Amino acid sequence: MKEKTIYIPGRYNYIACFLTLDCNFKCDYCINSHHGIKKHKSFPFSGKKWVSALNRLVSRTDLPITLQGGEPSLHPDFIWIIKNIKKEVNIDILTNLSFDINRFIKEVDPSRLYREAPYPSIRVSYHPHFMELDKLMIKVLKMQAAGFSIGIYGVRHPNLKSEIADAKDKCSELGIDFREKEFLGKFGGKLYGEYFYPEAVSGNNKKKCRCRNSELIIGPDASIFKCHHDLYDRVSSIGNLLDPCFEIKDVFRDCSSFGDCNPCDIKVKTNRFQIYGHTSVEIKDIKSKN
Ligand code: SF4
Ligand code: SF4
Repeated sequence: MKEKTIYIPGRYNYIACFLTLDCNFKCDYCINSHHGIKKHKSFPFSGKKWVSALNRLVSRTDLPITLQGGEPSLHPDFIWIIKNIKKEVNIDILTNLSFDINRFIKEVDPSRLYREAPYPSIRVSYHPHFMELDKLMIKVLKMQAAGFSIGIYGVRHPNLKSEIADAKDKCSELGIDFREKEFLGKFGGKLYGEYFYPEAVSGNNKKKCRCRNSELIIGPDASIFKCHHDLYDRVSSIGNLLDPCFEIKDVFRDCSSFGDCNPCDIKVKTNRFQIYGHTSVEIKDIKSKN
């Protein structure tokens, strides 16, 4: 059967490609383990399959495929995937930069990851408990010198505020783009983050609703999920990019997990035009289950 081209709906703001949910770090504030993933597990899905799946997508120039995880570079074919995704689709990377940057610089053309955008294409997350800032800055400067668009992000966790502020100062002095991200989730009995539907992340009794996403969530075997909650909690997928008939239906879907949503899906953020006040999902018809 001839494979259908998969068009990204014009309303979509993000394409999240989780090459793996594995990570070499174990940050206690990790949003990936906020709900379901107590133990990270590998999904053996080859680079060849990833490229066949991703090359079916037709996206806009301002809507890249973001390779993320977990730590995407733990995928054994990480570099091969980057080099073989079709050139018409832009690529971003979210990483903790624990990979071998010398090999990366040697094998990847910086222009493959470059595009006009108000943020870097390679966004490195800084985790003070697992990384030495000085070594990280050296790696980032080396990537910058090689022509890559790269910056560092630090999560403003209540326990890490001084480390993040310090890192920001040191990076600014060296000309490294350092940005802070708000901490999402519960800490010390308090819920942090600004949410479009606060009840959705309350952890109270789950309710039924209808929900539609503006992000394409691609799990580690190219399955498509309604949202991050479903990906992390292993709720059934709504399709797979390798299904020759698969197409993205931009519709509201029934959900019975409202109340247990992942903060990533509900937080207030900027859209692709950098306008604040957007959230990934739209939720309606919220009803109790009884
Ligand atoms: S580096 Fe990122 S993905 Fe890995 S444990 Fe830390 S927050 Fe989670
Ligand atoms: S209501 Fe929450 S759990 Fe259900 S699909 Fe929407 S974001 Fe996901």
